[in-house]
Amino acid sequence: MGCTLLRKVWDRHTVRRLPTGQTQLFIGLHLVHEVTSPQAFDALRARGWPVRFPHRTFATVDHIAPTRDITRPFADLLAEEMMAALERNCRDFGIPLWPLGDARQGIVHVIGPELGLTQPGMTNACGDSHTSTHGAFGAVGFGIGTSQVRDVLASQCLALDPLVVRRIRVTGTLAPGVYAKDVILAIIGRLGVKGGVGYAYEYAGPVVERMTMEERLTICNMSIEGGARVGYVNPDETTFAYLRGRPFAPAGDAFDRAAAWWREQASDPDAAYDDEVELDGSALEPVVTWGVHPGQSVGVGGRIPAPGEVPDAERDATREALEFMGFEAGAPIRGTRIDVAFIGSCTNGRLSDLREAARVVAGQRLATHVRGLVVPGSQAVREAAEREGLHDTFLAAGFEWRGAGCSMCLGMNPDKLQGREVSASSSNRNFRGRQGSPTGRTLLMSPAMVAAAAVAGEVVDVRQVLAGASAR
Ligand code: SF4
Repeated sequence: MGCTLLRKVWDRHTVRRLPTGQTQLFIGLHLVHEVTSPQAFDALRARGWPVRFPHRTFATVDHIAPTRDITRPFADLLAEEMMAALERNCRDFGIPLWPLGDARQGIVHVIGPELGLTQPGMTNACGDSHTSTHGAFGAVGFGIGTSQVRDVLASQCLALDPLVVRRIRVTGTLAPGVYAKDVILAIIGRLGVKGGVGYAYEYAGPVVERMTMEERLTICNMSIEGGARVGYVNPDETTFAYLRGRPFAPAGDAFDRAAAWWREQASDPDAAYDDEVELDGSALEPVVTWGVHPGQSVGVGGRIPAPGEVPDAERDATREALEFMGFEAGAPIRGTRIDVAFIGSCTNGRLSDLREAARVVAGQRLATHVRGLVVPGSQAVREAAEREGLHDTFLAAGFEWRGAGCSMCLGMNPDKLQGREVSASSSNRNFRGRQGSPTGRTLLMSPAMVAAAAVAGEVVDVRQVLAGASAR
């Protein structure tokens, strides 16, 4: 019987089995940012410990990054304190830091892949839930808390509970206007936000195999929103082509030797899975969330469910979500008025996301009541987009064009919802208060859907917008 990628990577990184039943795993790449690291570095300093493998540790600033004015000191003194602490810690412990304004700065899950730091067969850790993103390369990425950041800094190891593997095969072909974001929202909608607890999700099937690396990053990014600790795609020629020539990828003959080894890390054809699920990609439509977690979603042609239409266990949550969102059960999601359009985040702030959104807004104007922000996931994305003139398209449509950072994905920087505003957002969480206002409301969708909603001033079906554009 063959092995899954998870089993191969896990076994190759096992230091020892612990008496607790956990495994001590070696971590190949540790990515650090300003929010979850200060206390971890303080713990090392208090004990006089160094960072065990500084050459496997890289830092950036993203969560608190102002995306409009990066003049120091920041207006937000807490943000300034976090930034200064990260600079001090990286200097004292010998860790490379890409600060604001640096060409390599950006959201931690955007820069790791684009710099070639994330590679197949690797274990990654970062003090951020969405470290599952890196699984797009056939890596195994763990989102960790501050005490585990301390452990990895001190030992380059993590103590982890075992995981089992669910293979999710997406068959068929996605229709134009249906994207990787719709695939992962549909998976979470079907399996639930806790459906993946205890699992690693292996994404497979023809739809996933045809996806670009940026699309694979989107689906792996939201694995954690489905409860899965990690999510991954087996490495293939698409992966290797993406990595070739990246600054931290092997070069020359070393790349070919690495690629041969990376190929071996993929799950064997006869690997056994603990569970298997199949999803028909041809049947998918653009997906929009209507509630307060990413599993509360419907297809854009659907209606917001009533508590009586969902399984018993979800009735109270549905009732509470409807009340918070101020939505009527049975109302169509299409036509829901929005106030803010946010295109960005580690889920959908990459170049291909911006290209698709720009394609939708080209020659159009934002609805007069809509505030629109486009926030590239990294400085490199921003520069590439500007070389293509995408910023001109967004600016002409009335969007704000910002510097790289997490921005309105969460409320830790100046970009926030106000009051009860409704946001069409390409990010990954629609929890209460997530976008900076305790009463603000978030509808998750693909960047192209956000762009279409920004122009219409309400949720619309981007497939019709794209069809109309090609007929013009
Ligand atoms: S973009 Fe959002 S989810 Fe991603 S790292 Fe930043 S805050 Fe976390």
